[in-house]
Amino acid sequence: MLSLIDLHLHLPGTVRSQTLAELAAKHEVALPLPADELYSRINSDPTDDEKGRGPWFPLLRVYELISASLRTRDDFARVVFEALEDGKYDSGICYAELAFSPSVHIQAGTAYTEMTAGIELGLARARQELGVDGRAIAAINREDSAEVAVDMVKTVVENPSPDVVGIGLDFYELAGLPEKFAEAFQLAGEHGLHRTAHAGEHAPTASTVQIAIEKLGCERIDHGYQILRSPEIVARCAELGTIFNVAFTTSRRALIGWRRESVAAMIESGLRVSINSDDPALFPTTLRREMGIAREVAPSVNETWFVENSIDAAFLDGFEKAKLRERIFGSSNA
Ligand SMILES: [Zn+2]
Repeated sequence: MLSLIDLHLHLPGTVRSQTLAELAAKHEVALPLPADELYSRINSDPTDDEKGRGPWFPLLRVYELISASLRTRDDFARVVFEALEDGKYDSGICYAELAFSPSVHIQAGTAYTEMTAGIELGLARARQELGVDGRAIAAINREDSAEVAVDMVKTVVENPSPDVVGIGLDFYELAGLPEKFAEAFQLAGEHGLHRTAHAGEHAPTASTVQIAIEKLGCERIDHGYQILRSPEIVARCAELGTIFNVAFTTSRRALIGWRRESVAAMIESGLRVSINSDDPALFPTTLRREMGIAREVAPSVNETWFVENSIDAAFLDGFEKAKLRERIFGSSNA
């Protein structure tokens, strides 16, 4: 079995319910239900009251509670380590990129350098104790204003961490379309940060994928299924070799069939796809399970193809990618 790579993984979405219970108690964050019951609510439909916040509200509400419970460098170090520990033992990962949302924690009073110090500690411990490597992606919360996003990128640039290698654009797509964040992404690009964005997930158009690539300078796309609405944009991305970091399993079971069909169609259209777990502690899945689904929906390609795409899409330099390739496939294929 090949070692796997997870490039589309949200730090709050990796937090175990037991860890949430302990961190919430430590920081006196009131949970409306015991943590394990909250987690099972994620997979139910929103109540009428909740629908005003969007169809994904139960998930985003749990995200808020997890984020509110992550305050200190020790908290960040713990959840980063546990994310990679679960990734290793559940799925055999050897490398992951974890997205975190600085503005959410900055607004709650945590200094950015506390977050990065914790992430660095958690990654260092995972390298040493688990033999699993990782990096972090500072993700813009698309509900933020353009100014808050620019400030966040400035903070990332002014406080460089060897482990924070790029920026992302996360959460409910219709709450902030990509063009709003052009300046923030441009600034990130000028300072050598890698760039990715969630696009073509909730907005029923392929244009958000195109804008993320052309205006935001994204090297890869998280999700991207709606690209299928435009054969021209599909052809352009196939030519560019853009890699789409997809995940099959969501909090909403109704979406699962549609996503599987979309990923199969993307691969048939000549697009490059990598398989990821997105929020494995919150959804009933693991990266290994997602890979199994990928083999079912796309029998024309094999696991090696998906892993090769992950290596190519990773926010690592050529030397580090060669090391990763050698580790996974052995020196003869390096
Ligand atoms: Zn995601």
